[in-house]
Amino acid sequence: MSYQVLARKWRPKSFAELIGQEHVVRALSNALEQGRLHHAYLFTGTRGVGKTTLARILARCLNCEAGVSAKPCGICPACQQIEAGRFVDLIEIDAASYTGVDNMREVLENAQYAPTAGRYKVYIIDEVHMLSKNAFNAMLKTLEEPPAHVVFVLATTDPQKVPVTVLSRCLQFNLKQMPPGQVANHLRTVLDGEGIAYEPGALNLLARAAAGSMRDALSLTDQAIAYGSGEVHEQPTRDMLGTVDQAYLLPLLEALADADGPRLMREAEAIAERSLSFDAALQDLALLLQQMALAQTVPDAVADDVPERARLCALAERTGPETVQLYYQIATLGRRDLELAPDEYAGFTMTLLRMLAFAPAGEIRFAAAKPKVVGASAPIGSVQIAAQAAPAIATVAAFDGDWFALSRRLTGGVKQLAALCEMADHGANFLKLRLPADQKSLLDSLGEKLKAALRKLLSPAVRIEFELGATSGAAPAEIVGRQQAARQAEAEASVMNDPFVQTMVRDFDATVTNIKPIGEPAP
Ligand SMILES: [Zn+2]
Repeated sequence: MSYQVLARKWRPKSFAELIGQEHVVRALSNALEQGRLHHAYLFTGTRGVGKTTLARILARCLNCEAGVSAKPCGICPACQQIEAGRFVDLIEIDAASYTGVDNMREVLENAQYAPTAGRYKVYIIDEVHMLSKNAFNAMLKTLEEPPAHVVFVLATTDPQKVPVTVLSRCLQFNLKQMPPGQVANHLRTVLDGEGIAYEPGALNLLARAAAGSMRDALSLTDQAIAYGSGEVHEQPTRDMLGTVDQAYLLPLLEALADADGPRLMREAEAIAERSLSFDAALQDLALLLQQMALAQTVPDAVADDVPERARLCALAERTGPETVQLYYQIATLGRRDLELAPDEYAGFTMTLLRMLAFAPAGEIRFAAAKPKVVGASAPIGSVQIAAQAAPAIATVAAFDGDWFALSRRLTGGVKQLAALCEMADHGANFLKLRLPADQKSLLDSLGEKLKAALRKLLSPAVRIEFELGATSGAAPAEIVGRQQAARQAEAEASVMNDPFVQTMVRDFDATVTNIKPIGEPAP
């Protein structure tokens, strides 16, 4: 018995069957019913959302023998041939494999001739952004003066790469990615229709893995059916997709809610011991937090089949909405920074410790430094270092009185102004800077910016004052000037005392013109 893949078997044949693109369907249906036809349509959207499917339905609407309408009959020869992919007046081109101008010119020359069987010649050009510049030019000529019987339907995942001259001649529709809930619903319809047994949790997993693409969701469902010997159950699907029940992360969130640092680190170690991907763990953590936020605002929206729903809702009750938002942000940023971390385990624990540092609970317990070895990929020091570093977040860097060092941490114009100032006075939360009176205009234009930059480096509360007056040589620019002069003198002396240079000057009348110290640091 031949098996037809689900994505093909369940490909929508009419607007009514198309899932999740109601806005496009409505606009196209109205245009068709009112006879307001356009010569070129552009469908944009990520892969698998139904661009070419929509294009083929449109081709049926235009060529159905019952007449142009939004509801083609589906049984006339034109409808059936379009469905089977052998209608002579439907020309489908995959630009990804067909970019040359000669091909395009050949195809377009034929556009001039009247359709053979249908009412319209429909050109579907998929991945149109892949066409060469010359091919676009050839197409543009036809688009500028389109024969009445020609309709172009262009599809692309990357409209930015389509020349604006082409874009401006197209009626553009953006197809949306489908939310997992909608995809899961459709999978339910498909499996009910096929008479295949399933567990709802499995469909949620498949829908999430498909990331907005119905085609991918149906292909994955095909695989899940094969993997599960004809049925789609949650655990085999999870195994097939390589995903782990998100519930394994609940103990982490519970440790955070208890502000229990040692337990948090033990849970992180447990994840390392199971050799799970830290990237996937942070992604799952963000999803769990999203579910928690949902539980806090729209409890009914949390699906009944979410694993450990009761535990999740209990956590949502214990954690403030702002904290959930903050944790979510820390998790997504932590995932982004994972590749910059010394190693993935350090990046993962640092992300958890950052959450702990921001936990609203008054008292945060940290382990007495007694780290355990948790596996080759987890260096013994990382737990210890991270645990010590974490409490520093949120505390303010104290000004140690080293104005020179502080001024070097600035950038841009305010760094130049700072270089001209010397420290006249300072206290725990106070800094007075003095600069020469002839720099007043620079102070007027950049003084407030310098204050803001220093407050950013020190503390928002620090008070900064300026006074005009003669400096005593302690301004960073003066210090650097003296250092440069000393290095220059040293360089000149060393060159002029060099026996080879002395010989050149004495015996060959050479002149030394330009001496620079080696490795001159940037001012
Ligand atoms: Zn028909």
